[in-house]
Parts: sequence; structure tokens; C-alpha cells
Amino acid sequence: MSQTEDAPINWLPAFILIATPIAAITLIPWYALNHDFSTAAWVLMIGYLYANGLGITAGYHRLWAHRAYEAHWTVEVALMLFGGAAIQNSILNWASGHRTHHRFVDDVDKDPYSAKRGFWFSHMGWMLRNYPSSTPDYSNAPDLQKNKIVMFQHNHYLAIVLFMNIAVPVIFGFLVGDVWGTVLLMGLLRLVVSHHFTFFINSLAHMWGKQPYTDENTARDNFWLALLTYGEGYHNFHHIFQYDYRNGVKWWQFDPTKWLILSLSWLGLTKNLKRIPNFTIRKAELLMQFKRAQQQLEQKSSKLPSVDVEAMKQRFAKEYEAFVATMNDWGKLREEWYAEKKQTMMQKWEDAAFKTRFNEIDYRLKMQSKRVQLMMQQMMMPQVTAL
Ligand SMILES: [Zn+2]
Ligand SMILES: [Zn+2]
Repeated sequence: MSQTEDAPINWLPAFILIATPIAAITLIPWYALNHDFSTAAWVLMIGYLYANGLGITAGYHRLWAHRAYEAHWTVEVALMLFGGAAIQNSILNWASGHRTHHRFVDDVDKDPYSAKRGFWFSHMGWMLRNYPSSTPDYSNAPDLQKNKIVMFQHNHYLAIVLFMNIAVPVIFGFLVGDVWGTVLLMGLLRLVVSHHFTFFINSLAHMWGKQPYTDENTARDNFWLALLTYGEGYHNFHHIFQYDYRNGVKWWQFDPTKWLILSLSWLGLTKNLKRIPNFTIRKAELLMQFKRAQQQLEQKSSKLPSVDVEAMKQRFAKEYEAFVATMNDWGKLREEWYAEKKQTMMQKWEDAAFKTRFNEIDYRLKMQSKRVQLMMQQMMMPQVTAL
């Protein structure tokens, strides 16, 4: 490992990250022996956990680090406050570090939380010491340095953290008539759970799960992690298409952050939601499937009769040819579409006609993806006979 592992301790974060879990596992059971927690305190804890989590995922991550959409200033203020409550440093610091993470993903010297340095390091070890890899460098975030809300939070970070983590739980505790219960659950337990759930995105989401879009970095797609991380468990998709406002790109994937951003757009509170075209996404998936099929074919070829291997190779070559042809057709259609658009103010019906043709090509790719998947399943079977 080229980075020094005995870098100086980062005392304040180290204290917070070590003291809060210890306080939670001792104070909460001790208090519970003599008192009952009110239902209100539990409800407030869950609600605040979600508000903090979404402040980080919809705000810190998708809005500020990736600019995946634009938000009304009232939404920005709410995300800034709730994200600030999660105690993960200021937006400017977090988003700038995260841009570095995407740019140098897995690099042990440059990625601030490289998963190649192990689970512990990527989960929270990177924050406990002043490693050179996480030295702040805001030169990658001039846009954020111009944002008044971001800079307000950066300059008043401590006051916001104290207000959101102490004053807010105390106020709610008074309102529901259970001050200590609310401070312990909504204040303390929520903070610890919120920390570790979101830290999983840097640790487990780079280790455990599938890689349907790319295997060029360690990022994984994982439904179970999406459940804990407000939808950010689809990290393999996110690392290849980081500007998409969705992480769970399929409509059925659990991504509350995406649902929040989308619902706010219906109210006019968010806009310009960035979406990677379906075709591009499908292309990435199919390329991965081809890569896997090729690898399997190579592995299997020594164990199977040569006639079968030959048949599979031919089928594979045919599919790949069809894929290249679809890509070419798509490229031509795109050129046609641009030319048409440049020359004339395209009529609505013409645009619709193009859309139908684009959809046709998209459908071809979808069907091909199914065929390649089937081909792979057949290859996995122990007795492969003529395909
Ligand atoms: Zn990542
Ligand atoms: Zn990201």
C-alpha cells in the first residue's frame, strides 16, 4: 500500500464516530430498563432518519455532487438542513470528495474511500485519520463555491449541526412530552443508524452484489443495500451513469430518492431531471452480457465436445453481428434525426415518426438481450447439446 496508514488522527470526526455508537449501545438500553420509550419518539426517529438520509442522497449526492437535476431554493434549503443534520461534513467538502471518488474510483492513492483499501477503510476508516487521499481540494467544485445555500452551510456548519442534532430533538421531545426518549432515539440512535446506513454505499456497495453494466470498477448493484440506503444500492449503474437522477433505473427498483425527486418535479419544485437514454443503458447491459458469454465460452470450451463449442461460437458471432448492425442503424437514424431537426422546424408528426423508429431499434436490442441471456443459461447447463 502506497498510502501511509499511520496518518495523523482526525480527532473531531474520530471522536464523533466512536463516541456516538458507544453512547447509543449503553445509554439506550440503560434508559429502557427504567422507562418506556413513547411511540412518538420511535416515529420521530424513523421520520428523521429518512429526512437525513434523503438530505444526503437527494441533496448532497444527486443534486450537489452530480447536478443530476435542479431544485427550487426552498427544496435546497430543506436538503441542506436535513443533510447537515446527518453529520457527514459540509456539502462542499462532501460533494468535492465524492467527485474525486468517481473520477479516481478504486485508486488507492487518489480515491478518498477506495474499496481496494478494504471494508473498514472505505466504510469509515478514511474519516478517522487525515489521509492524503482525502485532503480537501475544492478546485473540482467551482459551481458549489458560487452557490449561496451551499456556502452558507459551509460557513455555519457547526451551528447547523448543533441545532439539528440537539435543539430539534429537544423541541420535538417537549412537543410530544417525552424529552429524554426523543433525544435518545431521534437524536442519538438516528444519528448512528444514519451514519452506518449511508457509509454502506462506500463500503458494501463496492463489494457485494452484481455488475450488470460494467466491471471496470468495483461498484455493485444490490437490492438489499438499496433498502438501507434510500435507493443508492444500485451503485454499479450509478458509477457508469453518474449524472442520471435515478440510481435504481428500472421502474420497479427500490429508489425512494428517485421517487422524491420525481414527485417534486410534478409540483414544479425540481426540474431538468437528467436521464440517460434507454438505448444507451441497454447497450451497456448487452456489452456486459457479451463479455460474460465470451468468458463462459472460453471456460467451457475445454470441457465440451468440439461440435458443441463450434455451434456456440457461431451463435455468439451471429448475435454479435446483429448487435453491431443495430448499433449502426441507431447511429444512422440519429444522424438523420439531427439533420432533419437542423434543417426544418420539425413538425410534431415527424418527431413522432422518428420516435417510433427509435423505439423499434430499442426493441431490437431488448430482444437481443433476452436471447443472449438465454444463450448464457444454456451454456451453464451441464449437458450442452446442439443449440
Ligand atoms: Zn462509489
Ligand atoms: Zn455518486
